[in-house]
Amino acid sequence: MSLAVQFNQVVKKYGEFQALKGVSFDVEEGAFFGLLGPNGAGKSTLINAMSGLVVPTSGSIHVQGFDVIDGYRDSRKLLGLVPQELIADPFFTIKELLELQSGYFGMKGPEQNRWINELLERLALADKANSNTSQLSGGMKRRVLIAMALVHKPRVLVLDEPTAGVDVDLRRTLWDFTKELHKQGHTIILTTHYLEEAEALCDRVAIMQHGEIKALDDTQKLLSQHPYRYLRVNVANPEIDLPGLLAERLVEKESNGFVFQVDKESSMTETLGLMAQAGLDVTDVSSRDATLEEVFLDLTSEGMA
Ligand code: ADP
Ligand code: MG
Repeated sequence: MSLAVQFNQVVKKYGEFQALKGVSFDVEEGAFFGLLGPNGAGKSTLINAMSGLVVPTSGSIHVQGFDVIDGYRDSRKLLGLVPQELIADPFFTIKELLELQSGYFGMKGPEQNRWINELLERLALADKANSNTSQLSGGMKRRVLIAMALVHKPRVLVLDEPTAGVDVDLRRTLWDFTKELHKQGHTIILTTHYLEEAEALCDRVAIMQHGEIKALDDTQKLLSQHPYRYLRVNVANPEIDLPGLLAERLVEKESNGFVFQVDKESSMTETLGLMAQAGLDVTDVSSRDATLEEVFLDLTSEGMA
């Protein structure tokens, strides 16, 4: 399988501070790839380096085989990037911005106009097509940036926190649209704070922290390799004091029960025995595997802001 993106020993220094400490990994063509990590991990720096917004101190990045610096013109055409930071242009309408962006990539004519209109429709921007971008809400600005990233039909679409501060309806619209693009063969790379979203959407994820990759694997593998499973127990006497062995495994206390983190290797009988010994009047038990959020917290030991 050919590679959509190759990061090779990418270092970015801001003065003495190393925002990227030699990041290397590949994204296969056709992947739906999630780049996750707490605030300040270096996700945006890495992503912006793909499009030339950030110039790495050392290392290289290739998009569809083209070096993003030496082969900028070619790599840039194959890449659509939706930046995290919202921008507004007070001088142009949405439609004009999309036409300008098309012109920049040398695309025009009736076919291109049809595509621009389709983007406006799909991203629910059609009735604002002739508005100035400075008059738009945050969610609309985000959609304009997505339309701009897609105007040249790039093979690789990169979305940096596309759903931050976006309402539920729009999130769904965005994901439906992104999934459709993925089905059509586009490679998708996204960063998101919403780990549930990443778990549902991404077939592969990288977890980044302090400018380094902490884990990278197929989402399902990452989940199944997690050493714990989770046991939710409903009890008739939730006010009971838990003995040490159970208290150590408690991850959540609920009004009618508990959630315990249990070593996958340990026997379920043992845990259930401990509960019986403690005098828990168990009314219901269910067990599940770790979520991506739990894997993430385990690997980074810090929450997402
Ligand atoms: P993320 O997107 O994962 O939240 P960023 O890539 O935005 O993280 O930032 C990574 C680190 O680099 C942060 O500590 C941030 O403060 C720092 N950083 C980003 N851009 C600059 C800059 N232009 N000058 C100095 N430090 C920067
Ligand atoms: Mg960021």
